[in-house]
Amino acid sequence: MKKDLWIGGEYRSAASYNELKNPYNLELLAKIGSASQEDVRLAISAAHQAKTMMAEMPAFERAEILEKVARFLRDDLDECARLIAMEAAKPLKAARAEVNRTIMTYTFAAHEARRIHGETVPMDAAPGGQGSLAFTVREPLGVIAAITPFNFPMNLVAHKVGPAIAAGNSVVLKPASQTPLSAYRIAEYFHTAGLPAGALNIVTGSGSKIGEVLMKDDRIKMITFTGSPEVGRYIREHSGLKRVTLELGSNSAVVVDEGVQLNKVIPRIVNGAFAYQGQVCISIQRIFVHESIIDEFTEQFVSETRKLKAGNPLEEDTDISAMITRGDVERTKQWVDEAINNGADLRLGGNAEEGIFQPTVLVNVPLKEKVSCEEVFAPVVHINSFRDFSEAIDLVNDSKYGLQAGIFTNDIHKALQAAKKLEVGGVMINEIPTFRVDQMPYGGVKMSGMGREGIKYAVEEMTELKLISFKTE
Ligand code: NAP
Repeated sequence: MKKDLWIGGEYRSAASYNELKNPYNLELLAKIGSASQEDVRLAISAAHQAKTMMAEMPAFERAEILEKVARFLRDDLDECARLIAMEAAKPLKAARAEVNRTIMTYTFAAHEARRIHGETVPMDAAPGGQGSLAFTVREPLGVIAAITPFNFPMNLVAHKVGPAIAAGNSVVLKPASQTPLSAYRIAEYFHTAGLPAGALNIVTGSGSKIGEVLMKDDRIKMITFTGSPEVGRYIREHSGLKRVTLELGSNSAVVVDEGVQLNKVIPRIVNGAFAYQGQVCISIQRIFVHESIIDEFTEQFVSETRKLKAGNPLEEDTDISAMITRGDVERTKQWVDEAINNGADLRLGGNAEEGIFQPTVLVNVPLKEKVSCEEVFAPVVHINSFRDFSEAIDLVNDSKYGLQAGIFTNDIHKALQAAKKLEVGGVMINEIPTFRVDQMPYGGVKMSGMGREGIKYAVEEMTELKLISFKTE
């Protein structure tokens, strides 16, 4: 199969093509067009031409297009899940869950399209304001560049394309090189749903080459990026006055207090640590357990983790499959070995076979180790103890990241203390930090990013607030 670039409502051939391989068995999946800088400028021109039509399209029509896309996804759920499983090595169960969430995301986008509104402003609250009637409206920004990572190839595209279209913008999308097929599928759905040509364009190929054009071109009004902190910072520093939102990485922590019913929370925590091989921005990486229950917790956690089945992502009962690249397997192995050499105890895993890194549990990890303080983005967790709850909060906050944190406790005072003190974008009480539904505000502090997604909040980022004031007297 060969995939061209999607520009101006049609496929256009590229000057060169890259091989896309299945990360699990390394079989060739397709040849994917690699956009030249001229191709990217062509995509921006197509989006720029479509922007007036998008801005003038009534809200109900934008909503109907988004609803149709959600319907097509529902009709093709299994096929879309297989596409994700093949290009991202995401186990089919998780891939199906992602498609279901993508349907929700586009459905929420359709709802939001219908309720974008401003407010009246009480001008007479200030001396001199009397006799003026004022209100705000939210206008689309114009052309938005969306850059997405490999790990949720459909739903994270939806978190950018959904609100952008809901708000009447046009889009140039650059999906991750490893996961272009699901993005092209979405372009086809939008086209069939009646989105005007040029309102959504997809350019694949080298991130840095395409990014360079997107950052420099003045016709792009906003860059919405999800990916690694290094690339996010680079984009932020080179995008001039463009609006930039960044959804970056983390080394999420969960705290388990004394008195918590372990058999209830452990399966949840195992899922939060190892789902999709730990390649989730809010994957649990650091587990802090009260010292009175740490032995019992560790024993049960290891035994629950042993139940995970590793294998082919296309098999229904697979829980864990290959990491996205063999290079990431090697990096993970190095970080785990380093931690062990520096005093951590290995309780489970620690090795890889054919691209699959075994679910790995470490205890007593020195907090300076990379597996603790950097984003590991692999199926690796560590369990450390704490004595009092304030210490646990400090341990969670001792991180350059701050996306979400989870706290399990039966004590309302401790829960409220955590809500107040934790330096993160979202505090999950009696829930894992990996919890997300698609309409909630979502984003990080510190090196985890800036700006919020969750359709309503992304629409705010993707619109300009305009004030209109009438002198009535
Ligand atoms: P990545 O390497 O940063 O890539 C993300 C996207 O940026 C890809 O499309 C990539 O293209 C592109 N890119 C690379 N270099 C670029 C440059 N110089 N200019 C512009 N674009 C460039 O991240 P990843 O490995 O795909 O994803 C994993 C990371 O994403 C993790 O850190 C994870 O925590 C984070 N993440 C965050 C969230 C969140 O919501 N906070 C959600 C999911 C993932 P190529 O693929 O062609 O290199």
